[in-house]
Amino acid sequence: MDLPICSFDLKSGMLCPRCEEKILRGLYDDLDIKVMKTFIELEKELPKLAKTGYVKTVEFADTIYIILKEDSLKYIDQETLYLLKKKLREKLGKKIKIIEDDKNVSRFIEKLVAPARIITINKIWLPDGSEEMRVILDRERSLQAASSVIEVVKKVKHITLRIDFEKTGWQERKVKISEKKPTS
Ligand SMILES: [Zn+2]
Repeated sequence: MDLPICSFDLKSGMLCPRCEEKILRGLYDDLDIKVMKTFIELEKELPKLAKTGYVKTVEFADTIYIILKEDSLKYIDQETLYLLKKKLREKLGKKIKIIEDDKNVSRFIEKLVAPARIITINKIWLPDGSEEMRVILDRERSLQAASSVIEVVKKVKHITLRIDFEKTGWQERKVKISEKKPTS
């Protein structure tokens, strides 16, 4: 697996200056180290992991989100993915979600919010010069799900996200009308 921290450092527990700098800059924390170490162990049992790449791990409530490099998942079959999640769950004691990174921020957010879909996405520049993204989704998701997406986007893309939901009145009416159709 392609890791941002040297596998030698992870195995020995001693960081080289380059990797230490990444930790000091706050790019990776203890959880990242733990997950990367676990991946090194799992690669022996699940050799298909060798072609994948690691980006970042984010913990939120009862779930651990593991972000893999773009296109990583095409190297893992469903069975490997199932075993990977199972073993990570056993090791980390939380629900595991594995998500592929994407250069395109909108597409990355789309993967995180699924099965909800993005209706509009806007970039807003705040008076202090920082950037914020505002996303409107087609359906309501739980507060926890929305908060977890915000946290993952902040840690992986360093973007502040705001999530709103579209009012879907006309769609509800459409459903009601079609329900009244007589069966023939
Ligand atoms: Zn290193």
